[in-house]
Parts: sequence; structure tokens; C-alpha cells
Amino acid sequence: MPSAFVDDAKTITEDNPFESMMQRFDEAAAHLRLDPNIYKILRWPNREITLYIPVLMDDGNYQVFTGYRVQHNFARGPAKGGVRYSPDVTLDEVRALAAWMTWKCAVVNIPFGGGKGGIICDPRLMSPTELERLTRRYTSDLMDFIGPERDVPAPDMNTNEQVMAWMMDTYSMHVRHTVTAIVTGKPIEIGGSRGRREATGRGLLFVCNEACKKFNFEIAKTRVVVQGAGNVGGTAALLMHEAGYKVMGIADITGCLYNPKGLDVVGVMRYLRENKTVEGYTEAEHIPVSDFLELECEILMPAATENQITSHNADRVKCRILAEGANGPTTADADEIIVAKNIFVIPDILANAGGVTVSYFEWVQDRMGFFWTEKVVNERLQEIMVSSFNDVVAFAEKFKVNTRLAAYMLAIDRVAYDTRLRGIYA
Ligand code: NAD
Repeated sequence: MPSAFVDDAKTITEDNPFESMMQRFDEAAAHLRLDPNIYKILRWPNREITLYIPVLMDDGNYQVFTGYRVQHNFARGPAKGGVRYSPDVTLDEVRALAAWMTWKCAVVNIPFGGGKGGIICDPRLMSPTELERLTRRYTSDLMDFIGPERDVPAPDMNTNEQVMAWMMDTYSMHVRHTVTAIVTGKPIEIGGSRGRREATGRGLLFVCNEACKKFNFEIAKTRVVVQGAGNVGGTAALLMHEAGYKVMGIADITGCLYNPKGLDVVGVMRYLRENKTVEGYTEAEHIPVSDFLELECEILMPAATENQITSHNADRVKCRILAEGANGPTTADADEIIVAKNIFVIPDILANAGGVTVSYFEWVQDRMGFFWTEKVVNERLQEIMVSSFNDVVAFAEKFKVNTRLAAYMLAIDRVAYDTRLRGIYA
């Protein structure tokens, strides 16, 4: 029978993060024998907003920036997810990131749906006042769609606590009272949570510890290679180093450092803070990124950006554990190769969920108006990361699937269950 439904299927390319996410989603849905009606609902984002944001630049002229906010799913609570400033932002990327937030919040079982935002801009070429005007206009244009009960933004690539402070202030000015719970990842002084800044990196440490226990790896002999030296990679490298791991490699967009004896991570991070580049650092070898991702190690942690491990290099990756700090660092086409090499994957929607978990704690504390000590935050984070790791491993064993598929299945099962409970299609 002819159907009124027209699917706007696109050409599938390996580096399209939305397609990468959908391939895993489809596979997990098939394994779960997901109800076809629930499948139809979950395969689309709930809402996509495109904004054209006029900004007065310091030279007196206007620029109009394109921005997005995608709200993927609300079945389990308000949308939750970061805002990214980058010249490479695309709607498909923001869509994928929003969907990953839905699955991530479900994997760690916190009461949020998924959302994500992005603005196409190059923040390195903008002054603080231009960035502030861009952030404020983006926030006020989204007033009808965001809020503590609707959608709660947070930092992501190239956005930080200052950007969140501007967003909170703009939202508060519009509603005429201070609303701290509108964003997470704020400065502690205005409602941020202790431990939020380090949360994603700390969550990575907790899941790596569990994986090492599983494989009986001795921490001091466990070699770690981290791509990305920002909030996620930089913090994870520091915490792993502090915990006694041998961090041999750290890379950022300016280059890749390698020292087989182990890097002085504190020194590397200090050098980066002072020089904004790894160029000129003398205590390590400088190697090309292709060699860097193929270093022999126990733990490879891609914590920078998407599409780093693809069908082109996956067969040369030589780690035992792939701990995905970034969102979507491995393409769907690389999955099969990684699985065939018997690499244990801690998938992004589990591995980097420490950030959103402490964002959830921040939202709870803001709404209570009562703030926890860092010790309490870290203990609760550890409890959630360890039990989520065990949930994913148990799901993988029960269904005899790899850990990435298990994480998607666990998440989709939870969101599908709640969608059915709410009776969305009754
Ligand atoms: P960030 O801006 O603080 O740092 C990004 C780092 O990656 C920088 O060191 C940068 O130089 C490096 N980088 C960027 N592109 C690169 C490339 N092509 N090659 C090598 N290095 C590159 O960003 P972040 O907050 O650390 O986010 C990193 C990743 O983690 C993103 O995928 C983000 O979505 C994800 N993530 C972030 C959080 C969080 O709490 N910040 C939580 C979950 C997931």
C-alpha cells in the first residue's frame, strides 16, 4: 500500500556523525526487537531550531552567525546537553550530539532527555565582548524553548564557565529573577557544582579503573594515550597520572607528544596553559597524529573530537581498551574492525557520562538551594559510573553483544519503556 510517509534518507557517509549514531541505533533496535511504533518516534529528534544571530562586532559592523539547538527527546525529563562553538558545527553534528545525550542520560539513568546546541563561529578569532554578545543573543532567541524544566544547556567544545554565566544572566534578565538551574557548568560562585569542572575526566578514570580490574591490569604498568588536552582529555590525563597510570601520550590540535617512559603530565598541561601550543615542548617526542592514534598501549582515550578512528585506521589501532572521552570519536564503520581486534570499548555514551552526571547534581543542588561538598559529589559520581559500567557489561554478557551495542540497547530499552509508560501514542 502506498504510504503518506516520506523518509528524507540521505547518502550515508562515514564521517556524518548522525548517520554513525543511527547505524548503532538501528542495530540496537533490531537486537531489542523494538516495537516499530516506538522505533518511529525515537529515530527522530523532537525539535530542531535554527537561528540566525546578528552580532555587533568590535569594528562596528554586524555579522550574522548560524546557530542550532536540537531537542532530541523528552521522555525521561527536560532536554540536557552542551553548546559548542566551532567553525565545523553542522546541523547533523548537533543532531547526533543531541541523540547521544538522550542515550547517555539513559545509560547512567538520570532524569533527562537529550539536547545539544552549536554556533558556527571561530571563537579563537573573536574578542570576549563579541563572544558575550553572541552568547546573549543566542540565549534570548531561545527563551521560549529552554528552561530548568525544558532544556538545560551546558559547556561543550570552546564554551566554558564564563559562557554559562552569560547564558544564566541573560535568561534571568528575561524572567526577572535569578534562575541558576537554567544551565550547568557555571562558576561555583553563582550556583555551579563542586567537582563539575573535573567530572568528565574523573568519570573516565572511574570506568578505566573498572576495566583494568576486569582485565587484571596493574595500574603502574598500564600505558595510556590521550588525544585532547581540554576539559575532558586534559583533566583525564592529569587524574590518570595522579592515580598512577603511565600516561605516554597527550595530543591537542597543535600536535602530539609522546614519551615511552611516561610524560610529566603536570608539566605538559602547564606548558600548554602558558604557550597555547605543544610546539616547542622539549621533554617528549613530537609525532604525527596518524602515528599517535596507532601507539601500542593498554588504554587509548580519544577525548578531542569526532571521527578519529575510522575504517581507514582502525586496523592499525593497538590498544587493549578504547575509552571514548569525546563524543563519536569512532565511526560506525570502524566498529566491526575494533570488535574483530578484541579491543574492549568503553563507549562514549558511558565513558564520558561523568560530565552530565555532575551536571544533574548541579541542577539538583540549584533547585534545592543546598550545595554539596566535593567529596559527596565525587562519591556519588563514582557510584553512578561504576554501577553504569557494570550494567553495560552485564547487558553485553546477557545478550552476547559488544559493549557499544549493549550501551545503546540499555539506553534505548529505558527510553522506550518510559515512552510506553507515558502513553505517547495512546
Ligand atoms: P575542549 O574545547 O575543552 O578541548 C578540546 C581539546 O581537543 C583541545 O585540547 C583541542 O586542542 C583538542 N582538539 C580539537 N580538535 C582536535 C583534533 N582534530 N585533533 C587533535 N586534538 C584536537 O573540549 P572538551 O570539553 O574537552 O570536549 C572534548 C570532547 O568531549 C568533545 O567531543 C565533547 O563533545 C566531549 N564531551 C565533553 C564533555 C564536557 O564536560 N566538557 C562531556 C562529555 C563529552
